[in-house]
Amino acid sequence: MWAELRRIGRDADSGGYRRHAWTGADADCRNWFQEQAEARGLAYETDRNGNQWAWLGGPPPASGASAASTGGASSTSSSASTGGTASAWSDSAAGDAVVTGSHLDSVPDGGAFDGPLGVVSAFAALDELRRRGAEFTRPFAITNFADEEGARFGLACVGSRLAAGQLTREQAYALRDADGVSLPEAMEAAGHDPGTIGADPERLARVGAFVELHVEQGRALDVSGHSVGIASAIWPHGRWRFDFRGEANHAGTTRLADRRDPMLTYAETVLAARREAELAGALATFGKVSVEPNGVNAIPSLVRGWLDSRAADQATLDTVVSAIEQAAKDRAQRDGLDLAVVRESFTPVVEFGHTLRDEIGRLLGGRAPLLGTGAGHDAGILSAAVPTAMLFVRNPTGVSHSPAEYAAEDDCVAGVLALADVLEGLACR
Ligand SMILES: [Zn+2]
Repeated sequence: MWAELRRIGRDADSGGYRRHAWTGADADCRNWFQEQAEARGLAYETDRNGNQWAWLGGPPPASGASAASTGGASSTSSSASTGGTASAWSDSAAGDAVVTGSHLDSVPDGGAFDGPLGVVSAFAALDELRRRGAEFTRPFAITNFADEEGARFGLACVGSRLAAGQLTREQAYALRDADGVSLPEAMEAAGHDPGTIGADPERLARVGAFVELHVEQGRALDVSGHSVGIASAIWPHGRWRFDFRGEANHAGTTRLADRRDPMLTYAETVLAARREAELAGALATFGKVSVEPNGVNAIPSLVRGWLDSRAADQATLDTVVSAIEQAAKDRAQRDGLDLAVVRESFTPVVEFGHTLRDEIGRLLGGRAPLLGTGAGHDAGILSAAVPTAMLFVRNPTGVSHSPAEYAAEDDCVAGVLALADVLEGLACR
């Protein structure tokens, strides 16, 4: 599977992946997913939001719907849900399908593992369970969520947010990429009808548990000496856009004292962000900036910088972001600039449900420690709607969102076996 994925969307110069949502590279990844599903005899479907699903034995009916029109795994599913065999992780209101997967899109010049490791491991875990002769007593599916990274339209987890009703159709229709192409236009160009995007409660109601395996984006497992870990929580995080407006002028003829240079204010704000994050034990990063007119010999008229900030709890995050805003405001006043700050996205803290998390810990026999993460995931979005858990695979350098992202083959295999153990425990008995 890795050999087939390796070439898709890889930039020859940077060595990184550019698999942005609804582009040609993304389509190649999605075709690969469909081929993997069909090669294993799984029932393939795309949901209304463009997320891909591969069902073992066909999709079950929506929760509460009649099971009469379905067969195979679906009738197994209804007997499991009505026969008193539902385990503790699945409350009676939820469906009973066990679903695993991740995403195949990437950040600009991303690594090979963020996302694809979860999808490849899902297919490999199914292969392992078939090798073991495991019999599924619950419906089972593998997923690829659309547009997880938000690299093209600026908002992360669009596919899962839409499905969970955390992004409205109107909000999604307003998203545009750097070339002015809207999300529905991009979907349509890629062959997906955008006319029905939006909340998909019937589909999510089928899901009793969603487990996402992901490469760790930090070094906690390397430090603790484990191949695999279990997520405890995802830190609250958000993106803020800072617009610093000054006055364009000639770099060679304008006296320093006469300038209204937004680049200076921006630079001070970047330093303030670092300082405030260090003080609070949080994270703050300006990783994207755009400049107008963007000429070597011109004082800028506008510098637009994007702040990404995360912290272990909401209060700390609020403190850090307002301190950075205040520092930017003070400096803008001194420099004679206009400043506007817009919160573009925000995801509150996600504490994964303890019942499923503890069940997974038991299934792994205590060989996987609990760890928190500062990175957002589809599992975090879905946790509001369905019981959700995550497994992390060791990343020896902790580097992610870069071509240097890495997981050793032994650890990837350990991840597949751990996922297989978890799926066997949840879906096969
Ligand atoms: Zn990811």
